[in-house]
Amino acid sequence: MELTLNNGVTMPALGLGVFQSPPEQTTAAVEAALAAGYRHIDTAAAYDNERDVGEGVRRSGLDRSDVFIETKVWVSDYGYEQTLHAWEKAAAKIGVDYLDMLILHQPAPDRFEKTLASYKALETLLGDGRVRAIGVSNFMPHHLEELLAKTDVVPAVNQIELHPFFTQPAVQAADAENGILTQAWSPIGGITFYPGFGENRTKNVMEDPAIVAIAQSHGKTPAQIMLRWHLQQGRSAIPKSTNPARIAENFYVFDFELSADELASIDALDQGVRHGPDPDVARLSSFARVIPEA
Ligand code: NDP
Repeated sequence: MELTLNNGVTMPALGLGVFQSPPEQTTAAVEAALAAGYRHIDTAAAYDNERDVGEGVRRSGLDRSDVFIETKVWVSDYGYEQTLHAWEKAAAKIGVDYLDMLILHQPAPDRFEKTLASYKALETLLGDGRVRAIGVSNFMPHHLEELLAKTDVVPAVNQIELHPFFTQPAVQAADAENGILTQAWSPIGGITFYPGFGENRTKNVMEDPAIVAIAQSHGKTPAQIMLRWHLQQGRSAIPKSTNPARIAENFYVFDFELSADELASIDALDQGVRHGPDPDVARLSSFARVIPEA
């Protein structure tokens, strides 16, 4: 299933995420995903596995142009020149001469001017054909508003925390109003059960009784139900797994449909409380993290 971005580029709606995929398992995970039918991989400079993603794509035997490769610029590389150089690092590590999607990993709330300068570098890279589409991640409506007022290209995507316990309706509405595609991170609620993550963790969304019941009625798994929910609501989703069976399971979501009532009952699970980091809280440790040269 393909989604058409606001600049006409098409992107497979479902991609493989690789946050916390250990480098030594990432190549195999990417190969397994591409063998199962995925054609979109979401990585980031900060995941330290861009090289392994590139290797997985090469080992798949697919043409470069058949795989949509998305990566993210980390905050310590914000600034115009730094972000142009971040492209060099990412492209060299992945082993490609263009990226399909390059996004800013998060706003830097205490240095938003630098965030804007980075975005202007993304616009330059887009103009040069070194990226096919550009976007942002973890941008709240007020960040989008300032970005749109001070830059020229409307982001193609906004990648945000989005699973049944945290659906961010105001961000989704701001994205939609501006023609920005919402892309869900932790789409099957990983952040709701990662040990050591999720300050507001209450319970694992995977075990929610409403989702389990819908899954049973369709003969599907909770992960498949959540992914179908994203797709039917027009979002992109990038579930992560390093397990080949679960990678395949997460892609078998095109042979059933959720009813309007089922979609509404999943929407009703929203608790309005984020589990991941607050994009408005500056974290000095983020800036201390240096992204190595290729
Ligand atoms: P997900 O919602 O994708 O959940 C991943 C977790 O679920 C892993 O522990 C995985 O374990 C497990 N899992 C995967 N499939 C299944 C299944 N079918 N049944 C049961 N368990 C399953 O969480 P992520 O946080 O990884 O988010 C997905 C992607 O989003 C990331 O990999 C990254 O690309 C992106 N992301 C972006 C962020 C941002 O700030 N922009 C922040 C966080 C994520 P296992 O591997 O063992 O299968």
